[in-house]
Formats: sequence, C-alpha cells, structure tokens
Amino acid sequence: MPALPIYMDHHATTPVDPRVLEAMLPFFTENFGNPASLTHEHGRRASNAVEDARFGIARFFGVALNEVYFTAGATESNNIALNLLAPGDHLITSAMEHKSIVVPARRLEKHGVEATLLTPDSEGFIDPDELRGALRPNTKLVSVEAANGEIGTLQDIVALGAICRERGVLFHSDVTQAAGKVPLDMTNVDLAAFSAHKLYGPKGIGGMIVRRGIRIEPIMLGGGQEKGARSGTVNVPGAVGMVTAFRIRGEEMAGEAGWLTSLRDILWDGIVEEVPGASVNGPRARRLPGNLNVSFERVESDSVMMAMRHFSLSSGSACSSGERSASPVLTAIGVPEALAYGSIRFGLGKSNTKEHVALLVDDLRRNVGRLREISAA
Ligand code: PMP
Repeated sequence: MPALPIYMDHHATTPVDPRVLEAMLPFFTENFGNPASLTHEHGRRASNAVEDARFGIARFFGVALNEVYFTAGATESNNIALNLLAPGDHLITSAMEHKSIVVPARRLEKHGVEATLLTPDSEGFIDPDELRGALRPNTKLVSVEAANGEIGTLQDIVALGAICRERGVLFHSDVTQAAGKVPLDMTNVDLAAFSAHKLYGPKGIGGMIVRRGIRIEPIMLGGGQEKGARSGTVNVPGAVGMVTAFRIRGEEMAGEAGWLTSLRDILWDGIVEEVPGASVNGPRARRLPGNLNVSFERVESDSVMMAMRHFSLSSGSACSSGERSASPVLTAIGVPEALAYGSIRFGLGKSNTKEHVALLVDDLRRNVGRLREISAA
C-alpha cells in the first residue's frame, strides 16, 4: 500500500525536488548576502547566484539575459504585464485565464480600459481568426495563456503571437502551467509570466519575460531592483531553486511528458470502464500531459472529494476553492452547470504510479456509486 494520502493535484502546486532544495540551502545560511550589496563578498556571492539564475532561465526560454525579471510569482508577473494598459487602451484576453489576469482586467475596465474577452471553443482553444477580428486600432495588449490549469488546453501561442506581431500589438502569455511540462516556442511572445512552484521549485518566486524595448510600468516602487521593474530584494534562495528546477525540467521534461500522458490515458480508460456517466472536459489532443478533467453525472464533486480522503484532488482552480460557483473555465467552454459541479481535476505528477491510478479508479467507482445511490434514495 502506498503512503497516504496520494497527491494528484500537481496543477495547484508540486513538491520541491530534493535536488532543488539542496541547491537552495546554502543561500539561506552561509551565502545569505543581499544581492544589491556589491561592496562586499557576501553581497557579490548572492548577486552572482541571482545572475546565474537569470542566465539559466533565459536559456531555458531561449530569450536574452536582460529579458528575464524576478518576481514573487506568476500572479505578480501577470499584474505587472496588465499594468502596461492605460485609460483609452484596449485589452484582449479570455474567460479561460487565471484570476490574476481576469481580476486585474476587470479593475482596469473600471479605470477606462476597454476589454474584450474572447470565447474559446468547446475544448478551450482560442481561434486565431477570432483574435484577428477582435483587434482594434487602440488594442495595446493581448493576453492568452500557454496552457490552462483546469482543462489542460495548450494554446497555439506562436499563431496568436504572430497575429499580434503583424498588427504591432503586445502579446503576453501566462506560461505558468506550461513551463517545464511541454516545449514552449517563445518567438512571438513579448511578455510572459511563470512561477517556480508549478515545476518542482519553491513557492513565492517566479518571474517574467519582458522583451527588450518594452517599458514596464512597475507596481512595486522602492530600491529600483530588477532595473526598476520590480523593487524589493530578490529572493536569492528562491531564484537558485527556480533555476535548478528549470534545469532539471530541461533534462527530464520530454521523457516524463510521454510517461505522464500514458498514465493519464490509463486513468481515463479505467474511469470509462468502471464509472458510468463520466465525460472529459477539455481537449483530446494538445493537452497538458498530466491533466485530466472529468465530469461525473448526478454527483457533486465536493462530496466525492470529501469521501475520497486518500487522494488530494481538486475541482477547478485552488485559488477559487471555497467559492460556491461553477468554474468560469468550464462555463466558458459550455459545460452545463450541473456537470460543472460534478467535475474533478486530476493532476498527475512525477510521484504518481500505475498503482495510484488503479486505487483511484477503484475509489471513484465506489464513492461515485454510493453517492448516487444516496441522492437517488
Ligand atoms: N497563472 C496560472 C495559469 C496558474 O495556474 C497560477 C497558479 N494557480 C498562477 C498564474 C498564479 O501563480 P502564483 O500563485 O504562484 O502567483
């Protein structure tokens, strides 16, 4: 019997890889200097570590060294990107985006920014022609994520970015769920946001890519770190952990993606065989490898997850848990409300095994069946 509970919520966060932790530890203790303290060796060591991290991250994404900025995570990076918009500008994004895009977009609308939310198709894809049709003379920024954290849809950010390039519009992509899981072509991306904790790195550190020539309007003002784009002492152990996580992902991502895809397929085949009334939300192909999102008819996912104490699962985005409303992502792709309330997101990661999947299917069969019996009684 494996150790319980079994973690299957890798879109919410991932455990820190022991190799990442090992690389970070000296930067809490002996190499604790402030990277801005260049008058002494302690500071220079910290500064060198931050610049080495910047180099590794630039390499991972295939961008220039001075196009990488450290932040506290993707929420902050997304907010900074949207802060480029001023009253009178037009923003294009979609209802599929993470709340750290959707909520600032709503606030911008109250301050005179026009916003268009594109409607995805039934698998969550944004149609490049629809984006083309939504562009206006005052469109300043388009923001479309590379991968969706609920239903795994992988957008064609090359095609979407190309349309923006043609029209001289900035293209921002939240690559938080995609980075380190699938190959990313950043050719047509002007700005991007990411967080280390989604790829077996630590929480509270992330970054953004900002192409040369784009002037950031900072949110944090102060000491002028990160070329003034983000004041505040850089999280040195975090930056070291994040680059170590990216380096490991660079080496292991390709092999792991194939394996996770087959584990995900075993899970879906098991559900089809054992649990009647189940349907997949999101795409069949062009989907994050470890992602499966399933709606179970005639049950509420909250009750199923509560009953399945041996598994750490979620429905929708963890950031919105506690709120009792259907997932905006499922609503955007046209999943009926009753089925949206019966949806569970399975997020497989590198610690999961075929045995975990077999136990999960068995637990789903028993609990979904039992809850349906109770509600029918
Ligand atoms: N964007 C996406 C797509 C995400 O999945 C998340 C994390 N749920 C974020 C942004 C925010 O990341 P963080 O909480 O690390 O700031």
